[in-house]
Amino acid sequence: MRSFAVFTANKMSGQKLKIAIQKQGRLSDGSTALLKKCGIGFTNGFGKLKSEAQDFPLEIFFLRDDDIPDYVADGVADVVIVGENVLAESPQPVDVLEKLGFGRCRLSLAIPKGFDYATPADLAGKRIATSYPRILRDFFESRNVEADIHEISGSVEIAPSIGLADAVCDLVSSGSTLFSNGLREVETVMLSEAVMIARRGLDEGLQTILDRLLFRIRSVKAAAQNKYILLNAPANKAVEIASILPGMRSPTMMPLADEGWVSIHSVIGEADFWEVVDNLKQAGAEGILVLSIDQMIR
Ligand code: ATP
Ligand code: MG
Repeated sequence: MRSFAVFTANKMSGQKLKIAIQKQGRLSDGSTALLKKCGIGFTNGFGKLKSEAQDFPLEIFFLRDDDIPDYVADGVADVVIVGENVLAESPQPVDVLEKLGFGRCRLSLAIPKGFDYATPADLAGKRIATSYPRILRDFFESRNVEADIHEISGSVEIAPSIGLADAVCDLVSSGSTLFSNGLREVETVMLSEAVMIARRGLDEGLQTILDRLLFRIRSVKAAAQNKYILLNAPANKAVEIASILPGMRSPTMMPLADEGWVSIHSVIGEADFWEVVDNLKQAGAEGILVLSIDQMIR
């Protein structure tokens, strides 16, 4: 009740949480979509740097991703959405609150075809182009390899073909950019995804808004990782089928008009989805329907 009182108070005082997201790039759509799924509507027209949410005490700043860790450390923003790779390159005294499940990529070492590579030690003394010198330095230091790291701010993948470097360390998702530049991925330096981080020392009012935002984000994430399933089963198989489908507490069971049959409803995780469906069919389930879930509040 106390937090509700604080929330009502900050609604009246006009207090707003400031969030920074990437203005334009690979994290923009995911960040905007996540906030919209949380019921937070805002406009982010071309060239706009700031927007106010219509139905939640939130101000949204649209920034370049490299600047985001500094803004949260300086207190310009209270929370931000950024790639773990950017944060690892510019560490700040912030708290990582939640992994967000989008913007997945890896920071990888890649070499031109024809380079004879077995271990990172083969890169000793070689020139490696990257936009992530700090992460890469740590990688080589922990392996006692002395590499010659060249920091460049973009188009890293063309560095070997123009004679600027012998190898590169760059972000990869499908690997097609490396491939089309004649490079072969040989080592994963770091895995990354978008995370939400917050500055330390938020006051009680801002913390309450943040808790409400996180509650919504976690419900959206849980929903994305689960499916709602409905099926028909012979009544004499209902117990066996229920044991395959534990659900949030236990499955719902309802008699069908056709005597001797029941309808079973439950929630199943996306990870083991197909295995569960196979088991259900083997146990006698029929007419299986699977629906996506918008929000899931445990
Ligand atoms: P900005 O103009 O904001 O500085 P940028 O060009 O530095 O943008 P993007 O290429 O939009 O950045 O990537 C933003 C983030 O998306 C990366 O820091 C990383 O966390 C994530 N990402 C996911 N997949 C990839 C990929 N294949 N290549 C690059 N970044 C990726
Ligand atoms: Mg950038």
